[in-house]
Parts: sequence; structure tokens; C-alpha cells
Amino acid sequence: MSYRKEEQKIQWKLRRIMWIVFAVILVLVIALSIFSSFVPPVTWKYYFYLPSVSAREEGELRIHCIDVGQGDCTLVEFPDGKTMLVDGGNGQESATTAIMRYLNGMKIDYLDYVVLTHTDSDHCGGLDTILQYKSVGTVCYPSAEEATVNAEYASFYTVLTTLSCQKEENHRGYDISSNDERYPYKVVWAWPYGSGTPNSQNYTGNDKSAVIWIDYGETEGLLMGDVTTTVQDRLRNEGAVGLLPDGIDITSVDLLKVSHHGALNGTSEDFLTYIQADKALISCGANNPYGHPSFMTMTLLNNNVDEIYRTDTQGTVVFTWGADGTHTVTTSR
Ligand SMILES: [Zn+2]
Repeated sequence: MSYRKEEQKIQWKLRRIMWIVFAVILVLVIALSIFSSFVPPVTWKYYFYLPSVSAREEGELRIHCIDVGQGDCTLVEFPDGKTMLVDGGNGQESATTAIMRYLNGMKIDYLDYVVLTHTDSDHCGGLDTILQYKSVGTVCYPSAEEATVNAEYASFYTVLTTLSCQKEENHRGYDISSNDERYPYKVVWAWPYGSGTPNSQNYTGNDKSAVIWIDYGETEGLLMGDVTTTVQDRLRNEGAVGLLPDGIDITSVDLLKVSHHGALNGTSEDFLTYIQADKALISCGANNPYGHPSFMTMTLLNNNVDEIYRTDTQGTVVFTWGADGTHTVTTSR
């Protein structure tokens, strides 16, 4: 073969390689454009490293206490398939990403209920983002009165005003129970007094947190928000004389989601003695600057509760209540 022919052959080969590279790039760009129209680039990070969460079995109620560092985020799956997200972490990128990945890992694009227990940033921080990317049936929130109490709540409230979903201010007696024939369950707000009612003015800050009672068959759980022992004493006293709303009975609780990340003023011995909890869950960050959970609270829990779980040492903790009364707990670490 002559030198000229050899050169032509090489050039032809080079041209072919260039065309192939061009075609591959073109296909990638088109594929990425189509993908982006379904999943916007700003959300791509929410679809990496999705946790593997098993599917809920028929008749199960599951409570997922998601590890969001210092803060709170609890996802409840009810036996009829409805979902409720309570609080949305502290708004740090890592916390919001963890929540979004958890929801995406479970293929949850619609939440029946999103509940913000109170206005503190470690509870509402990431909800503005979550509400922008997930559809919601009903948002339960503290109140319009507090709209400017801090930057995080202001941001949450601004997003909330743009949504066309149902909106409900947290108030005692709010009831989202289901009378489903096969798997009935009760979910009732034990606290706080609704804004505008005379009693509501006596409570401020953490004591305005929603306290949510969940009852499924023989199993009960209490999500305490960040209320102090002042509110717990009141709930205990009201329970003792049958004054809690709508049949709430807190005298035999399977799961206590401990108030205020295990802070010193968040749990009293009287309350623990009254509710007789089997299990306690503390949501807090490792080595957090607040010293949560406090040594005193841990001592009280060790003396009064059989099993204690912590998101800072065990990661995400999932409590599963079966229709047959079985209880199982799984941790991600
Ligand atoms: Zn908190």
C-alpha cells in the first residue's frame, strides 16, 4: 500500500471516531435534557445514595425516626397506606438531603399530612424545600400569628401560602383517625390549645408544640415535640381525671418519642411513671452543642423505660406495629 493510501485510511478512521464521539455526546445531551424535564438538576442530589427501605407489609403501621442530626423528622406510614411527615429537620443541606433521599428511596411523592410541631428552626428548617418538591394533602402548622418569629418559619410560612392544599393550625382534639374496617387507627392531637383560645395564651415557645397520640390496636405512641414538663404535668393531670380530648389514653404507651431531644426540662419522672412507656426514642445529633440528651433525662429513662433508642448513635430507627400486635424495631447502624 502506498504512503498516500495509508494516510487516507488513517484520516478516514479518525473521522469515523470523531463522528462516533459526536453521536455519543449528542445522545447524552438529549438523554440528559429529557431526564432534566422530569427531574430538575437542582434535585439530582436527592436521588443519589437512596437508602434501601423495605416495603410496608399489609396491615402494618410504621414510624420512621429519620436521622437528621440535631433536629427532628418523623415519617409515619398508616395501615391504610396514608403517610404523615412530622417536622423537617434543621434546614442544613445534609439534613434536608437525608429526608428527601429517604422519601425518594420509599418512592413517596405525595404526603397525606405534613405536620410542623412548632416554629423552632430544628423542626421547620427543611420543610420549605420539602413542600416545594412533594405534593401534600394537608399541612398542620403552628399558627399564622407567629409568621415572622424566625427566618426559617417565615420561609416555611411563605411557601405554605403558595400551596393550595388543606391547611390546619395545630390544636387539641384535631383528629385524623381512620375507621377503616380492617385496620382502624386513631391519631389525635393532645396538645396545644388552638391559637385564639383563652388557654393558648398561657403557653409559649416549646410549650406550643403539637403532641400527637397514635393508637393502633393495643399499641400506642406519643410524639412529644419539644414540650416541657409543664405541659407533661398538665397532660398527666388531665388524663387522671378524664379530661384529655377524644378518648386519648396515655397510661400505657409503647413508644415515647422523647420531648426536646432529651433535654433536661423535657421529661419528668411523674410523667414517665404515668405513661409506662416500653420504648423511648431520642432524636439528636452526635456531639451536639446543647448536650442533648441530658444525663438526668437518660437516668430517668433508664429507670423507667425498657428500651432506649437514639438517632445519634443508631441512625434512623423504624418502629413497626403489626396488625397482630407484634412490635419490631430496626436501626440503620
Ligand atoms: Zn427541637
